[in-house]
Amino acid sequence: MIVFDLQCRDGGETFEAWFRSNKDYDESLARGLLECPLCGSANVGKAPMAPSVPKKGKSDALAKLAAAQAELLKDSRWVGDEFPDTARAMYHGDLAPERVHGQATVEQAKSLAADGVPVAPLPLPVVPPDQLN
Ligand SMILES: [Zn+2]
Repeated sequence: MIVFDLQCRDGGETFEAWFRSNKDYDESLARGLLECPLCGSANVGKAPMAPSVPKKGKSDALAKLAAAQAELLKDSRWVGDEFPDTARAMYHGDLAPERVHGQATVEQAKSLAADGVPVAPLPLPVVPPDQLN
């Protein structure tokens, strides 16, 4: 036995109906044996299936991460290669503090951290604005 979600084309009600097989359903439909249990209309058919919801996967997590990062960088200025110098200068008060992000080599990042400059790696690589398009 198989169960189908059927829908009344007149009233829009959906209901379940059991059939011996797909063929049984087709034959019952062709003979007008199917009817809406609520209004008795024979104008019924298989209910449209809801689009399958993709399983929460990697791409979804990545999209969320990207959105979170975009939010994080919304008020941040891209300084590119000057990031280590800029971060250091702000730390030492040579530059007005602001949110910046940019590039640093692993060595530069380590050096900044060793000097106590508060920097944090971004979860995702950032495409420099001058490399967009
Ligand atoms: Zn109906």
